[in-house]
Amino acid sequence: AQVVQAEFVKSSVKTEDCPSDGLPEFALVGRSNVGKSSLLNSLVRRKRLALISKKPGKTQCINHFRINDSWYLVDLPGYGYAAAPQELRTDWTKFTKDYFLNRSTLVGVFLLIDASIPAKKIDLEYASWLGQNQVPMTLVFTKCDKRKKKKNGGKRPEENVQDFQELIRGFFETAPPWIMTSSVSSMGRDEVLLHMAQLRNY
Ligand code: GDP
Repeated sequence: AQVVQAEFVKSSVKTEDCPSDGLPEFALVGRSNVGKSSLLNSLVRRKRLALISKKPGKTQCINHFRINDSWYLVDLPGYGYAAAPQELRTDWTKFTKDYFLNRSTLVGVFLLIDASIPAKKIDLEYASWLGQNQVPMTLVFTKCDKRKKKKNGGKRPEENVQDFQELIRGFFETAPPWIMTSSVSSMGRDEVLLHMAQLRNY
């Protein structure tokens, strides 16, 4: 399940503009600052590749990266960025929702959740929307290397992970799969890639 080849393909602003070669894809999504670029770097082991999505004009796009010439990793705009004007935020939500509902080659959404802090309302809303719309989802908890801090509610990452899952239980018929990761220690990296390989072959 290792990545031997990774290349940036294109940035799209709507679902219809996404690549049309029919290869299966996985979308990474999460709150701004959750560690999405770091995870992408860690998955493909190419620092500069994930930087592409951070270039001006691309942060609000659907960015496709082709992996091993056989599937795509898709970087979606981060949500909940406080500095974004409300109008823009609503717009992002609209086009990512359209992408989730209409992208036929989408095999799974990987929703990134920061395990170093207690659950945020916006993350719970996002998870609930995906659950209600039966979008296949995997929870990827990030920053699991971080130690508990008083200012962050004083809980360990393991406890935040448990709490989050309890809070979203009602939104799903069966609990979504979940993986604990750290881009600092590479914890969970192989597990994420293996899980994607299993979902592709399903
Ligand atoms: P993005 O906005 O979601 O793309 O987040 P970034 O990947 O840019 O990361 C945001 C911040 O969190 C940066 O300061 C990273 O160094 C830090 N960060 C990301 N992943 C981890 C992690 O696994 N562990 C720790 N301790 N910090 C992380």
